[in-house]
Amino acid sequence: MSNTDLSEFLKAKGVPFFENAPLAPLTTFKIGGNADVLCEPQELSQLKALLSFLRDNKIPYFILGNGSNILVSDKGVAGAVISLKNFNKIEAASSLEITCEAGQRLSKLCFFALEQNLSGLENLWGIPGSVGGAVYMNAGAYGSEIGDVLKECTFIDETGQVVQADVSSLKLQYRSSIFTGTNKVILSAKFHLKPERHENIKETMDDLMNRRREKQPLEYPSAGSTFKRPQGYYAGALIEECGLKGACVGGAEVSEKHAGFIINKGGATSHDVLSLIEKCKREVFLQKSVTLEPEVKFIGRQ
Ligand SMILES: Cc1cc2nc3c(=O)[nH]c(=O)nc-3n(C[C@H](O)[C@H](O)[C@H](O)COP(=O)(O)OP(=O)(O)OC[C@H]3O[C@@H](n4cnc5c(N)ncnc54)[C@H](O)[C@@H]3O)c2cc1C
Repeated sequence: MSNTDLSEFLKAKGVPFFENAPLAPLTTFKIGGNADVLCEPQELSQLKALLSFLRDNKIPYFILGNGSNILVSDKGVAGAVISLKNFNKIEAASSLEITCEAGQRLSKLCFFALEQNLSGLENLWGIPGSVGGAVYMNAGAYGSEIGDVLKECTFIDETGQVVQADVSSLKLQYRSSIFTGTNKVILSAKFHLKPERHENIKETMDDLMNRRREKQPLEYPSAGSTFKRPQGYYAGALIEECGLKGACVGGAEVSEKHAGFIINKGGATSHDVLSLIEKCKREVFLQKSVTLEPEVKFIGRQ
């Protein structure tokens, strides 16, 4: 089965798609090669038909959120990359609940909650992911995680069934969930929030955004924290103590502002970033006997 067959299928189903599509602009790192085929289904029936076609024909696929936690291979991504950007509806499900489709930006969800005078998402303000990507990663900041306010999640499982699951069955842990490493596709999430005064919610959001601007190298493309937090340590502090602040490989640099971030100073390749990741891992292991595990996901051809 070739990519031409996939393109023919997408044409027949009316699914918007792009062959040999550059992925770098769709990531916050601004790095990487092209997707063989980038698909942008517009509705559930198209998405289900597409997943079933890919499964039946053993074509690999990757679900792209807002591309803020991935490093795309310089050699590109084989098969289909599926963007859920058209799945972006947000609505108040009840006076304390919001339902949001997976392709919507987390920032839009936080802002919607603010408008409804609902509290619980403030700490996630400033995380540049989609709602689907945030659930997949169990994204979190400043002492809370998305799982704290998530009530249920609807997803397509590996057999093509749409499943509605309570948060308790999602096995949400530090940056992992039942979705980690699987081909499940998150469709939407329902959040249970608390009433709060508009100005209090806004004050917290503004305060946390200022802290991000102060501490993080937001002026450069990156994928956020490069490594997971090792138990009992901070990855950034370990890397800094190993003298790696400002270390470079090609266009990739361990940020001078926050050593937990590898940034793209200009023209970095995924090869540069991977080499710098290895250098950080090696030094931290040699000097501190701590094994760093990347939080950023490398995708595409090796
Ligand atoms: C400047 C900056 C700051 C950041 N700060 C934080 C922070 O404070 N806390 C934090 O936790 N993270 C942070 N991140 C990392 C990142 O924003 C989060 O991990 C975010 O949740 C990733 O969402 P995404 O939509 O961009 O996912 P992507 O990067 O597109 O994908 C990540 C993974 O999720 C999967 N995925 C995405 N959508 C779906 C879906 N609908 N169904 C199934 N799988 C899906 C992808 O297949 C991939 O495996 C930061 C990143 C940057 C660049």
